[in-house]
Amino acid sequence: MLSGVAQAWEHLQRTAQELFARYGYEPVYTPLFEHTEVFTRGIGEATDIVLKEMYTFEDKGGRSITLRPEGTASVVRAALEHNLTANGTQAKLYYAGPMFRYERPQKGRMRQFWQIGIELLGAAEPTADAEVISVLWRYFEALGIPPASMRLLLNSMGDDACRPAYRGKVAAFIRDRSGGLCEECGRRADANPLRAFDCKNPACVGVMAEAPLLRDELCGACAAHHSAVKERLAGLGIPFVEDPRLVRGLDYYTRTVFEIQVEAGLGSQNAIGGGGRYDRLMQEYGGPATPGLGFALGFERTLLAMQAAGVAVPAPPRAEVYVARVEGSPDGTVFAIAQALRDAGVAAEMDHQGRSLKAQFKQADRLGARFVVIAGPGELEVGEVTLRDMGTKEETRVPMDGVASAVDTALGGRSRTLHA
Ligand code: AMP
Repeated sequence: MLSGVAQAWEHLQRTAQELFARYGYEPVYTPLFEHTEVFTRGIGEATDIVLKEMYTFEDKGGRSITLRPEGTASVVRAALEHNLTANGTQAKLYYAGPMFRYERPQKGRMRQFWQIGIELLGAAEPTADAEVISVLWRYFEALGIPPASMRLLLNSMGDDACRPAYRGKVAAFIRDRSGGLCEECGRRADANPLRAFDCKNPACVGVMAEAPLLRDELCGACAAHHSAVKERLAGLGIPFVEDPRLVRGLDYYTRTVFEIQVEAGLGSQNAIGGGGRYDRLMQEYGGPATPGLGFALGFERTLLAMQAAGVAVPAPPRAEVYVARVEGSPDGTVFAIAQALRDAGVAAEMDHQGRSLKAQFKQADRLGARFVVIAGPGELEVGEVTLRDMGTKEETRVPMDGVASAVDTALGGRSRTLHA
């Protein structure tokens, strides 16, 4: 991976950690692979992920293993296994890492991609939905993606009280109109009719535009929940667009679903993040009824969206101080000064390639060093070095063992690393 891309990665991770921590989310690490059943059960047998996209293989013990295609199923499985939500306790977790889906690669769609996501378990109130959505929105804002270029789509998938009847209606609609739909959507009537709303085939989009909408058939409780979520979002000033055809690809969603899309830079893969509520998922794994919801966002697409918006990723300086070798000075002394700086918490770099002093200054510039320590033989003889401020070009003599505190003083005690 290019170092610039890796830097951007770290920036995305750091920004997420800082923001998510403000909302009380704690990290959780789940395995890269699980028993296949974890995904088939949670995500749903009839979903695209399970039917077509999983990397599944048999291990030497004859078990069916799958590389994780998404994070939620594993997090919920782990929360149950480790009793994180016992007796109604609320758990706020976030994860980050690679996911694997056997999809046709294209811009913004890879077979191994990186997701970061949060899960809020044990929370049924609409404020929880608004909080989760706001974290996603604020994250993209914090990265510098202009809000005007983002579109937050919102829908309700209903619950066990209202969705089954609605599902039946869509299935009947599909059977009735199957001639106008692609082969796959025609087949979806029985197993997963709502997925036909997600098909990109123009003929299907045309037909499904006339399909009945759940919005019109939500039960009272789901309708009230949905209105409350919208009110909370409006209260935060987060703009959203109601999209009654947004279904998202997984079976486990109930009530709120959402997605953030960007206008430029991504072509058809324009969703940078999304999620929803999954109040039945814990029960699918044999646990007690525990409401929950979350989102996942993709790093690759987020980076593309940042590039399209012209957002530069801030790169921290790689060295605060560069300790230059001068001809005639003992190598061991330069080495010891660099090490003393590092031990004191200052990011210090030195030459390991026998470069000229001029080349070392260039290198110090490239690394973004604020200071260069010049340890010439004459200075070393009296136990001193020269500290050059690369910004003001000012040079001062400081005692050899006082470089770290001199750097700290020069930075007004704001040395990047000294107080970390
Ligand atoms: P999903 O888990 O499908 O809801 O996806 C959540 C987010 O993960 C999407 O909005 C994308 O940013 C990202 N994502 C999903 N699939 C891929 C993929 N194949 N390649 C890259 N990013 C992906």
